[in-house]
Amino acid sequence: MKDTIVILGAGESGTGSAVLAKKQGWGVFVSDSGAIKPGYKEILEKWEIDYEEGRHSSDKIMEAAEVIKSPGIPEKSEIVRRAQKAGIPVVSEIEFASRYTGAFTICITGSNGKTTTTKLTHQILADAGLDVGLAGNVGNSFAFQVAEKDPQYYVIELSSFQLDGVYRFKPNIAVLLNITPDHLDRYDYQLEKYADSKFRITKNLTSKDLFIYNADDPVIRQQLEQREISAQRAAFSLEAGQGLAGWLENENMNIHHKNNTFTMSIHDLALKGKHNAYNSMAASIAARALDIRKDSIRQSLIHFKGVEHRLEHVLKIHGIHFINDSKATNVNSTWYALESMPDNLIWIAGGMDKGNDYSSLRELVRRKVKAIICLGVDNSKIHEAFRDLVSTIVDTDNAREAVQTAYYLSRKGDTVLLSPACASFDLFESYEDRGKQFKKAVRQL
Ligand code: ADP
Repeated sequence: MKDTIVILGAGESGTGSAVLAKKQGWGVFVSDSGAIKPGYKEILEKWEIDYEEGRHSSDKIMEAAEVIKSPGIPEKSEIVRRAQKAGIPVVSEIEFASRYTGAFTICITGSNGKTTTTKLTHQILADAGLDVGLAGNVGNSFAFQVAEKDPQYYVIELSSFQLDGVYRFKPNIAVLLNITPDHLDRYDYQLEKYADSKFRITKNLTSKDLFIYNADDPVIRQQLEQREISAQRAAFSLEAGQGLAGWLENENMNIHHKNNTFTMSIHDLALKGKHNAYNSMAASIAARALDIRKDSIRQSLIHFKGVEHRLEHVLKIHGIHFINDSKATNVNSTWYALESMPDNLIWIAGGMDKGNDYSSLRELVRRKVKAIICLGVDNSKIHEAFRDLVSTIVDTDNAREAVQTAYYLSRKGDTVLLSPACASFDLFESYEDRGKQFKKAVRQL
């Protein structure tokens, strides 16, 4: 079987890799320890690709020339360890697919803001008329697109799990948005290891490539002191400073590229809030590096529709504004949500706590939050963290009850914000499910 590629996990990236491997003439075997979704099974069958579900047959897997591991499968899982021990290379979909394309790649990573920045960058490139694919955690997998259409450019969202399986892959432009604690359970609870994983995006960059990063992020700054990165650098910040490629000043966003500065009012940006100013700067620097015209970038930034479940405007009912930020599954993203909101907030929070420390939210909560509606199975940590600041804290255990309670507690001019700071799995299937149930409950008011 040395001419066979084994793919672990038959989700979007696994199925895409299987199709690409098959097209490239490899023998392919796909193994998923759970049930494979019908849509993916159909693709595998259409391409006459061997697969199994509900188990990993190690005899077949151990014969592989190479294993492609889906990002959802931990490095430490039994089957991955056994393959590695047997000397079989275990790589990510991104690593594998990159061997079969010569396209220009812009890769975006960070703890928060990846999807937003990836979609925004893609939109700017597409609006400018470039032949560009959107890949990574969003849209069709990179591998599938390489197999099917292979556009000239890709904007790829890379999670740390994708980056862990990258060895030779080299983006042309790498973007690092921020590094704050998340997913530490997969990194032995060490921020250093998680940061290492994020910095893998810079590993193979050469002096021809561009590294775009957040100069305000203390972890990134500290890591940069210890690392050698061969790429050209372009840093962005919320404040003006020497040598920056992007900064804010007097409510304007400035992007500097090749002795030329592009300026636009932050009030014209479709994406609001400081966190989104970072995202808009990162995307604009990448676009300017591709020589996209300022006016075209400006139009894209003005008209960008935003991304579902990220500070998404839902409805205004009797002057009460409902906002869905269900994707805020950690404290840092909720901090930016609260920061960007007006006062008189009814805040819906909670869910599955990933070892959260809520102390950084206290000042914003004290200033802006009138009432907290907990939406989770165990809300004790939220009560503890805020009971001395907010007199009304109510427990609920479904989206409808949470929305109705919020509505009952609010007045004209108030804002109801769902920004949980927690994962959703205690009460919902996913953050998307939580956001959709929230929106449905709002529409039923
Ligand atoms: P990711 O793909 O990295 O999870 P998203 O774009 O889906 O990021 O946004 C996730 C959450 O983080 C949302 O609640 C969003 O409002 C918030 N967010 C977006 N950009 C940033 C940023 N640059 N810094 C901090 N939080 C952010």
